[in-house]
Amino acid sequence: MSVLVLLEQRGELKPCALEAASAARDIAAAAGMPLNAVYIGQSLEGQEGKLAGYGIAKVYAYEHASLSHYSNDAYVPIVRDVARELDAKVIIGSATALGKELCASVAARLGVELAQDAIGAAWAGGLVAKKPLYAGKVLADVTIQSVPAMVSLRPNSVQAAPQDGPAPEIEKRAMPEVSLRSVLKETAEATAGKVELTEAKIVVSGGRGVGGPENWHIIENLAEAMGAAVGASRAVVDAGWVHHALQVGQTGKVVSPDIYVACGISGAIQHQAGMRTSKIIVAINKDPNANIFKLCDYGIVGDLFEVCPALAEEVRKVRA
Ligand SMILES: Cc1cc2nc3c(=O)[nH]c(=O)nc-3n(C[C@H](O)[C@H](O)[C@H](O)COP(=O)(O)OP(=O)(O)OC[C@H]3O[C@@H](n4cnc5c(N)ncnc54)[C@H](O)[C@@H]3O)c2cc1C
Repeated sequence: MSVLVLLEQRGELKPCALEAASAARDIAAAAGMPLNAVYIGQSLEGQEGKLAGYGIAKVYAYEHASLSHYSNDAYVPIVRDVARELDAKVIIGSATALGKELCASVAARLGVELAQDAIGAAWAGGLVAKKPLYAGKVLADVTIQSVPAMVSLRPNSVQAAPQDGPAPEIEKRAMPEVSLRSVLKETAEATAGKVELTEAKIVVSGGRGVGGPENWHIIENLAEAMGAAVGASRAVVDAGWVHHALQVGQTGKVVSPDIYVACGISGAIQHQAGMRTSKIIVAINKDPNANIFKLCDYGIVGDLFEVCPALAEEVRKVRA
C-alpha cells in the first residue's frame, strides 16, 4: 500500500510537481502509507535536491530522450504499471493540460475515480478532494471511493512546502517497449519567453474595457511592473486583440495565482470560472456596479487608462 505522486516536467521539474508532492506527503503521513513518485522525462539528473523534504521514499525515474515530450502512448502504461506494482491506494497528479490528460487516461485504464482539477486534497479515512463546481461558485468536498483514488491538483492551489528531510532514492528504470502512434517533435509556445499563465503567482488580465489592441500595452506594462503573466477575457480574444492562449475562463485557462488583477473586465460567470480561486482579486473598472466588484478583495472604481499606468509606476518604485 502506498501513495504515488506524478512528477511533471518540461525539461525541468515543474513547480506543480512539488506542489503535488507537498499534498501527497501530507496525505501519506495521515494515511500511514509510504510515498513514492514516478518521473517520466529526458533526465532527472541534477534535480534530485529539489525533491528533498517531501517525504518521497523512492522516485521511479523513466528517463529517455524520446520521453522528454508528453506522449499518451508512452506515459499512461508506465504510470498504470507503477501504480499496480506499488499497490498505490492514492495517486496525485497535476491539473495542467498535460496532467489532466495523463490522469484521465490512467484513471480510465485502471477503472478508477478521478477528481480532476481539485484545489486541495486530504486524507480522512479515504481521499477527500476539494473541487470547485458550478464555475467555482461551490466548493465541494468529494470523497473518492475507488482504490486507487486519484486526484489532479490545480497549479498554485497547494503550496510547495519542503520540510527537513533527505532527497529521495532514485531508481532508474528502462523505458518499456511501446509502439508510439504519434510522436511530438516540437512544441512552440504562443506566449514563449513570458511567464506561463497557469503557473504565474500574479496575473494581470485585460478585458473589453481596454478599448482595442492599440491599448493592450497598458496591460502588458502593468504586468511587467508586477512580474506577472498577462491574461485576457474572451471578449478580447474573440475580437482578435490577443491570442487565445491568454484567455482566462470557462473556455480558456483556469488560473489560481496569489494575485489576479482584472482590468476593464465585467466579471461574467464564465470569466469567473477561470479565476475565482485566485487568492487575492483586484478589480479596476469604471462601472461601480460591475459584477467583478462582488467578487474582488480590492476594487478600484476608475478609468483603467489612468489607474493602470499609475499603479505600474508605484509598483516599480516599491520593487526598486
Ligand atoms: C459558453 C460561453 C463560454 C464563455 N467562456 C468565457 C471565458 O472562458 N472567458 C471569458 O472571459 N468569457 C467567456 N465567455 C464570455 C462572457 O460571458 C463575457 O461575455 C466576457 O467575459 C466579457 O468580457 P469582458 O468582461 O472583457 O467584457 P464586458 O462584459 O464588455 O466588460 C467590459 C468592462 O470594462 C469596463 N470598462 C470599460 N471601459 C473602461 C475603462 N476605461 N476603465 C475601466 N473599466 C472600463 C466596463 O465597465 C465593463 O465592466 C463565455 C461565454 C459563453 C456563452
